[in-house]
Amino acid sequence: MNILADIMNLKRRIPMYNCNDMYLYEILEDYKYAEDISEKDAIFDAFCSALWSCGNNRTRMTKTIRYRVRNDLINTETGKIFDAWSDVEYTYYRSMTDKDNWCDIIRQKINNIYSVYFDPEIVVDKEYMQLIKTPKRLYYEWISGIDTDPEVLTGLIDDAIDSSVQLKKKLSMQKPRLSWDEYLNVITPFLRKCFENCRLTDEAAETEDSSPQPEFLSEDHVYTAYICRSLSGDIKRWLKQQLGLKEHRHYIRCHICKRLIEKKGSRTMYCPECRHARQLEWQRMSMMKNAVVKLLKILSNPHRCCTASTFLLRIFHMWIQCRTMWHTKAWR
Ligand SMILES: [Zn+2]
Repeated sequence: MNILADIMNLKRRIPMYNCNDMYLYEILEDYKYAEDISEKDAIFDAFCSALWSCGNNRTRMTKTIRYRVRNDLINTETGKIFDAWSDVEYTYYRSMTDKDNWCDIIRQKINNIYSVYFDPEIVVDKEYMQLIKTPKRLYYEWISGIDTDPEVLTGLIDDAIDSSVQLKKKLSMQKPRLSWDEYLNVITPFLRKCFENCRLTDEAAETEDSSPQPEFLSEDHVYTAYICRSLSGDIKRWLKQQLGLKEHRHYIRCHICKRLIEKKGSRTMYCPECRHARQLEWQRMSMMKNAVVKLLKILSNPHRCCTASTFLLRIFHMWIQCRTMWHTKAWR
C-alpha cells in the first residue's frame, strides 16, 4: 500500500509528458524552459516515443519503368523486342507522406535516410537508373526515327540490364550493414542534438542576422525543416567517420569500381587502382597498334603483299572491335 502511495506521489510531482497532440514548437519551448535535466529527458523521451510509434512505417515498394509499344509497330521484329521490355521493375521506397504534422514528416525523413544509406535492396544511383531505363530510352529513339538492327538492339538492352544487375550488386555491398534498431540508436543522439541546438523563433527574431520568416510557413514548418536538415548532415558526417573519410572533403564514386574516392579536381574519375589498370590497358593497346603499323609497312611492298596487308588490316580492326566490346562489358 505504501509503495503504491509512493508511486502516486511521484507521478504527481513529475507529470507524464505526452506530446502526441502537441505542436512541435510547444514541445521545443517546454524542452528549452525545462527546470532540470530529468524534465528535459522526459520531454525528449516522449518526443521519441511519438516518433517511433507513429504509423508512418518505412515501406519498400516495387516500381515499374513502363511504356507501351504502338499497335502498328507491336508485330514488327523490333516492336516485339521492345514489347518484351515494356515493364522493367525495380525496388524503391515510399519517400513521401501525405500527412502534414511534424511527427509524420520527421519520421518520413528518418525512414528515407535508412532506405537510401542502409537498405541493401534499394539503389538510387543515377547510373543504375539510367541503365534500367535503357529499353524505354531506345524505344522512344526508335519511334522518333532512329532505326537499329534488331540483333544490335537486343545486345544493347541485354548489356544494359546485365550491367545494372552488376552495378546494383556492387553498390549494395558497399552499404553499411545496420539493423533498424541499431539505426535508431544512431539517430536518437542526433535528434537530441537538434533539441539542444535549436534556436526558438522568438530568440532568432531578436538577433540581427536572422532573415524574416515567410508568412505561409508556420513555426512547426520551420522547426521540422530544421530537424530534417540537421539529420541529413549528421548522418552524412557519421557515415564519413564510419568509412574513415575526411569530414570536409568531397567524395565521388570511381567510374569503374564504384568505390568512394576523394574529388581533388574536375578531372577526378577513377581510384588509383583503376586509373593504373586503365593506363596499362592503353599502353598495351598502343604497343599492339604500333607493332601492327610496322608490320603493315613491311608488308606494304606493292603487288604481292597488297592483299595480305588488307587482310591483316581487317583482322586488326576486328580485334580492336572485340577488344572494345570485351572491355566495355568487363569493366562495368
Ligand atoms: Zn576504381
